Amino acid sequence: MMRSCFCTFVSFATLSLTAIAAPRADHVFIVSIDGGKPAVIAESEAPTLKQIAAEGAVTWQASTIFPSITLPSHTSMLTGVGPDKHQILWNNFTPIKGFVKVPTVFSLLKAADPMAVDGMFVGKVKFRHLWLKDSVDVFDFGGPQDSAPVAGTPEIEKDKKPSQMVAKQASAWIKEHKPKLAFIHFPDVDSAGHKSGWGSPEQKEAIKVTDQALWQVWQAIKDAGIADSSVMLISADHGGHDKTHGLNIPDDMIIPWVAWGKGVKKNFTITDKVTTYDTAATALWLLDVPVPAEFDGKPVTSAFE
Ligand SMILES: [Zn+2]
Ligand SMILES: [Zn+2]
Repeated sequence: MMRSCFCTFVSFATLSLTAIAAPRADHVFIVSIDGGKPAVIAESEAPTLKQIAAEGAVTWQASTIFPSITLPSHTSMLTGVGPDKHQILWNNFTPIKGFVKVPTVFSLLKAADPMAVDGMFVGKVKFRHLWLKDSVDVFDFGGPQDSAPVAGTPEIEKDKKPSQMVAKQASAWIKEHKPKLAFIHFPDVDSAGHKSGWGSPEQKEAIKVTDQALWQVWQAIKDAGIADSSVMLISADHGGHDKTHGLNIPDDMIIPWVAWGKGVKKNFTITDKVTTYDTAATALWLLDVPVPAEFDGKPVTSAFE
């Protein structure tokens, strides 16, 4: 009698756990607008980003880490820890320095679910430092289609790929593979900032072009039929001032942080303090991958129902 009661209890408990363990989202897309300073975005034509923010949860006052430069801050975004732990303090592709020494969201996902499909689509070659062995199915930078400039995009630079091209390749792959986790990096806004200044008309034009690239990725998620089970997290690695960035000042440190999709509160302003390493924690939390104790980042739970 006791025994059969116990078994019933165990079965019930197992069923309940199964129900609880369902991930909050089946697909997470992390999109980074390199150098996307909220104050400049506010003054620019960016209908897609503004619509996504209106349909989702947003803070235009999130923070990046110091130093507010591309590779260290994207490393925090994708590893969940600050520079003191990840130790990527340089900003150029330097093969001899090897790979990041802490796990990334991709390697953590693969450890939890080896069959999960994931990929990185980046506009700067230095992201190779984050490409841990077997951590991503696709690391997309370069390839034969990158050898010639595309009409309407800036001239191809050896170590950069325009946002529109990143979007084109990411979109095709999303539609075909319906990934569990993808990172999509748009470089144009930063490039325009260094060339013409943060807040310059040229940079605002780059924001407009990048917004179209974002639309393409958003559309791909819808076309793939996974919009209802997906979350997009859109942010940036830093802002900027004059023609540079890297200082511990609000112009450089303040970044946007937008969540959209399954379970995200609609038309919600996030008032909690959000730091770029919270992006990694939020992505893992959504996918039901354990968030390591070493993480500095915490899931931005207030943005979700
Ligand atoms: Zn950057
Ligand atoms: Zn830059």
